[in-house]
Amino acid sequence: MVGRGSGAMAGRRVAVIGAGMAGIAAARALQAGGAEVTVIEARDRIGGRVWTDRGWPGLPVDMGASWIHGVTGNPLTALARTAGAALHPTDYESAAAFGAGREQPYPAEPWGMLARAQERAWEAGADMSLRAAVEALPRWQKMTGAERDAFRAAVHRMVEHEYGADWGALSARSYDDSAAFDGGDALFPGGYDQLARHAAQGLRVRLGAVVRAVQAARSGVRLTFADGAVAEADAVVCTLPLGVLQAGDVTFDPPLAPARQAAIGALGMGILNKCWLRFDAPPPVPAADWILNLGPPHDLWPEWVNPSAAAPAPLLLAFNAGTRADAVEVMDDAATRASAAEALRAMFGSRFPAPVAAKISRWHGDPLARGAYSFHAIGAGRDTRAALAGADWDGRIAFAGEAASPDHPSTVHGAWLSGLAAAETLARAG
Ligand SMILES: Cc1cc2nc3c(=O)[nH]c(=O)nc-3n(C[C@H](O)[C@H](O)[C@H](O)COP(=O)(O)OP(=O)(O)OC[C@H]3O[C@@H](n4cnc5c(N)ncnc54)[C@H](O)[C@@H]3O)c2cc1C
Repeated sequence: MVGRGSGAMAGRRVAVIGAGMAGIAAARALQAGGAEVTVIEARDRIGGRVWTDRGWPGLPVDMGASWIHGVTGNPLTALARTAGAALHPTDYESAAAFGAGREQPYPAEPWGMLARAQERAWEAGADMSLRAAVEALPRWQKMTGAERDAFRAAVHRMVEHEYGADWGALSARSYDDSAAFDGGDALFPGGYDQLARHAAQGLRVRLGAVVRAVQAARSGVRLTFADGAVAEADAVVCTLPLGVLQAGDVTFDPPLAPARQAAIGALGMGILNKCWLRFDAPPPVPAADWILNLGPPHDLWPEWVNPSAAAPAPLLLAFNAGTRADAVEVMDDAATRASAAEALRAMFGSRFPAPVAAKISRWHGDPLARGAYSFHAIGAGRDTRAALAGADWDGRIAFAGEAASPDHPSTVHGAWLSGLAAAETLARAG
């Protein structure tokens, strides 16, 4: 928190661009430090990539973030407690694997080979893709086609789904470089947006305000909106998603520092999409938290969550990541639902009941996100994120957001912590 006693921010007008968790955290800290804060948000809601769809009465479903990753010591756990938001723990060990209409042995995990590939990438002169590093291993050369397919499917479920990108795009050296909290993961049966709404209480938030240009003025910053309106502030916290920064949807004048621009170009924006399926009656699946689809290795919907222990109605949640998510994103709702239902029949048999409704995310096509979360592309790592974070324009603009979190990227808590860090940065810059 920016200490009230420091007085550094007292009376300063700060505009925070984006009412996701990074923006909300920054705004709270700055306001607590005495600043006059306005949060500027293009959508008609707060939360950003924390988005709970409440269209099914009494059955909230999270279309963006679902879990607190690591509940012990995680700032979101304390926030959930003060918000009165119930948590439901899930466990990766609680998993069952299905294929060809029946339960299958749990597949081998890829971690040993991936660790060797990572070591090789560090020994090599330059970073390379995770795929290139694996395919250069003598062990890969000796594997049969079936062994390679099984390994590839495991990498898809456990790595590509985690980082939202294909192994050909992920950095072999740094794809998994981040810190983590302990204590296991937990879902919000009542919706993740409870946290955003609770944390944003007492903040001044302007919804429906699309920023198009950010300009350093003589003694402050000028924002120009899509409708031509202009606003001024003494300082700005920018929490625009990496995908929005990469697309150049918002211009910065003068240009940002070369190292920051290079960081924006070097990180990757990944994609993970969800399909929630609702059923009339509890679907005939095991009581495990996770269900793995061991269908042919290039099938869609390889990973499922069974939230039935926490949900008030029968639900299943399916994911696609990377290029497969992009392939599904262009399908219409009916085709997406039919594709997910087909995957269930492939796993559990042709008599598996059809879902009665579906809710589908399309994060790549969302112009206010342009993807799900950032990843370490070839050559990028913690230092790249550190170069994106911090201040520019002599301390008049500070950057935050999950992509700017060196230790906890791609997460809600990383976004939150980056917002707090940006508030500190502005306070220090005075
Ligand atoms: C499908 C999916 C699943 C995920 N699962 C998890 C999970 O289980 N656990 C986890 O910890 N994390 C998860 N994440 C990641 C997590 O949601 C994000 O890391 C985090 O919410 C990002 O917060 P942020 O504040 O950095 O960005 P955002 O939440 O994207 O906030 C940025 C805000 O800027 C706004 N904006 C964009 N352009 C403009 C503009 N021109 N003018 C004004 N405002 C603008 C956006 O509308 C948005 O509200 C998931 C994400 C997705 C998409």
